[in-house]
Amino acid sequence: MKETAGTTGLIFNEPLLWEKGKTGRTAFSLPRRDVKEHPIDKNLKGDGPGFPDLSEVDIVRHYIRLSQWNFSVDSGMYPLGSCTMKYNPKTNERQSALPGFAMAHPLLPQPLSQGVLKLMFELEQYLTEITGMDATTLQPAAGAHGELTGMLIVYAYLKSKGNPRTKILVPDTAHGTNPASASLCGYRSIPLKSNERGVISPQAVDDLMDEDTAGIMVTNPNTLGLFEENIKAVADIVHAKGGLVYCDGANMNAVMGIVNMSDLGVDVLHLNLHKTFSTPHGGGGPGSGPVCVRKNLEPFLPVPRVISKKGKYELSEDFPDSIGKVHAFYGNIGVMIRAYSYIRNMGPDGLKKASQLAVLNAAYIKDNLKGTFHLPYDRPCMHECVFSDKLQEPYRVTTLDMVKRLMDYGFHPPTIYFPLVVPGAIMIEPTETESKEDIDLFVESMKAIAREAQENPELLHAAPQKTKRRRLDETSAARKPRLSG
Ligand SMILES: *Cc1c(COP(=O)(O)O)cnc(C)c1O
Repeated sequence: MKETAGTTGLIFNEPLLWEKGKTGRTAFSLPRRDVKEHPIDKNLKGDGPGFPDLSEVDIVRHYIRLSQWNFSVDSGMYPLGSCTMKYNPKTNERQSALPGFAMAHPLLPQPLSQGVLKLMFELEQYLTEITGMDATTLQPAAGAHGELTGMLIVYAYLKSKGNPRTKILVPDTAHGTNPASASLCGYRSIPLKSNERGVISPQAVDDLMDEDTAGIMVTNPNTLGLFEENIKAVADIVHAKGGLVYCDGANMNAVMGIVNMSDLGVDVLHLNLHKTFSTPHGGGGPGSGPVCVRKNLEPFLPVPRVISKKGKYELSEDFPDSIGKVHAFYGNIGVMIRAYSYIRNMGPDGLKKASQLAVLNAAYIKDNLKGTFHLPYDRPCMHECVFSDKLQEPYRVTTLDMVKRLMDYGFHPPTIYFPLVVPGAIMIEPTETESKEDIDLFVESMKAIAREAQENPELLHAAPQKTKRRRLDETSAARKPRLSG
């Protein structure tokens, strides 16, 4: 096997700045004084904040070393399923940092904010067009927040029809945020079992759907990386009983510019701009979870909404049926600018190509690792594929052991033990931005690990070996975190 991208080089230890400081060191020099010295009033002086004294070299090395402990999409492949950790073109960062955008204040009068308003207006239109829906709000700050907003819209719509209903169907492959968002809206989640092909069967929906059920929350493609092929039939059943179809669009990276969600019967859909539309994520944000709806739900979208009047853009609160505000001011503008820049850069063909490549890359991994790892649903996949550790069971090697070992080979571990319908799941999403060479290296590394599982399972139990920290005691780390050093 070729040399891997694994971590064998220098990884520096680094103490806290307080441990590093030496009295009298400074990181700056001021010009020679040309006025008389005046001692500071003793009462004003106090003890100070107790910051350590450091040289410039101390400070630069400290932060550079800490940054080198991070793993990111900028340093290597990050095949975290369901998260779409793709490379985000740096030009989009640049656009969002343009002073006119970065310095725009949300309280600035609207005539002085035309650029930002225009960008928001157009981005709403682009997302509406890409998804095939009729209207979009950019206000929610993340996917889960979009789900909450979407469910509030469903609730408001059904209430306006006379009865908001009490239940909602949620498939067993759903992300945990789906039932959580439904429950925040007061809906009780009714679990819906996927069939042996890993998708929803219309019969199962028909059995559960009634006039007290608000509808269904579907993720498409679902978290097994499979396209919900019966979604149209499912939507027809839900609609016939007066319910609505919510689509979790976190996996839009597989179908951008290819699938028209409205044609599939979707009524409400959220996107994750920080997954599909070029905002780096991880570490908690900021993100953006726009919600796209069909015409009949548009009156319920959050206010204020950006409207265009005689070539000028305005914020309008004049939507009496709106569910109200869901975010301070107008949402996370910086994320919207990156998405706008990304969409304009890619164009319709580029977006479509990105999805096609994401699917191709995942299919390539699926086919190359099939047989080495157990593939519970052996069917064409979308942008991610799900294996399990079943074939490694005889060697007492688990999914956790194998992905810890993968760090020694220089890859961020994929998503594991999710979705819950696959015991010991390993969920791999390469994204469209990985080259064939890097994917081949990943495949070879996974195969080498499978060989190690047979020949030397102890090695995997003790992994990782080459990282800065060995395997963590995750229980103690969660219960008794030591936050210094
Ligand atoms: C990431 C994700 C979410 C939640 O999105 P956040 O932006 O993290 O709140 C919901 N559903 C699926 C399928 C996801 O992958």
